[in-house]
Amino acid sequence: MVEKYVIAKSLSEALETLGIEDRSMAVIAGGSDLLIDIRQGRHPQPDLFLDISEVEEMRQIRLDGNEIYLGGAVTHQEIVHSDLLNKHAQCVVEGCGLIGGPQVRNVATIGGNVAHALPAGDGTISLLALDAKVHIAPRSGDPRWEPLIDIFSGPGKVTFDRASELLVGFRFSKINEGEASAFHRVMRPQGVAIAILNMAAWVKIGSGTTIADVRIACGPAGPRPFRAYQTEAVLKGKLFDSIAFEQACQVLAGEVSLRTSKHRATKEYREQLLPVLLREVLDTAIGRAIIR
Ligand SMILES: Cc1cc2nc3c(=O)[nH]c(=O)nc-3n(C[C@H](O)[C@H](O)[C@H](O)COP(=O)(O)OP(=O)(O)OC[C@H]3O[C@@H](n4cnc5c(N)ncnc54)[C@H](O)[C@@H]3O)c2cc1C
Repeated sequence: MVEKYVIAKSLSEALETLGIEDRSMAVIAGGSDLLIDIRQGRHPQPDLFLDISEVEEMRQIRLDGNEIYLGGAVTHQEIVHSDLLNKHAQCVVEGCGLIGGPQVRNVATIGGNVAHALPAGDGTISLLALDAKVHIAPRSGDPRWEPLIDIFSGPGKVTFDRASELLVGFRFSKINEGEASAFHRVMRPQGVAIAILNMAAWVKIGSGTTIADVRIACGPAGPRPFRAYQTEAVLKGKLFDSIAFEQACQVLAGEVSLRTSKHRATKEYREQLLPVLLREVLDTAIGRAIIR
């Protein structure tokens, strides 16, 4: 299937290989999206695969001061079993824990989920609720950190240059007292891949269980992974009662862009699911934040 396969062990080695210009190249991590895309003609056949799954800098999960660093080549299975992420990023653990089956989760990575840029990637949506930043390293020049929400330009499209830049990892704030997150999704009963609708929420509870701060992400709710800023604004500073929930549902229904997809669900069914998922993620996250 391929002429040359390079397994990089360090970021500098990976970036050096990325600099080889006389070959068509593809970065590969777990290959669970890429190999299917190549077989089905959605991605050109490269003559060099750059495998980044063993790059040390991209394999780490660690606490850096007040932030969690999550390497792009960490697999979903490793995320599920990370004590640090179970404490500080429950929505990511829940989202990644539902991806595919055990075989997929053992090889597929969080960086691959994000770089594939589907509007409903489960890892992507959960990282958005944590307001994650993403570390992009070019083959030459300075690396940069960007808000994750800014790197998506359309379905399957990213703003960084896949031919000359690598997604190295993510960072997001650790969970403090009164904060928690949750993820939930609805799949077709026989489904193993993309959700009919998924949603993640992060909340910070203030005095008297007021929602001091909140972030909500969901997909597919437009051409890019979606952050529900207007719904967040409606909930901020309010007690989470039935009036606040009804207002949030109305605003959310107005700001998402749902559509009918041939293989998964109708627009109308997705509309019905919006309040169900919103209730689920907010109740779970608020419940966890109160206990914490
Ligand atoms: C059976 C099955 C079930 C699945 N179920 C789900 C599901 O439930 N939910 C879900 O969200 N997804 C699902 N997926 C999709 C897929 O498993 C995930 O998106 C996975 O996280 C992709 O990671 P990967 O390491 O395999 O990426 P790869 O396939 O290796 O790469 C994907 C794309 O990202 C690029 N890339 C990868 N890593 C980097 C990097 N570090 N820097 C720059 N570019 C990079 C590659 O060049 C490629 O374009 C499923 C796939 C299969 C086959």
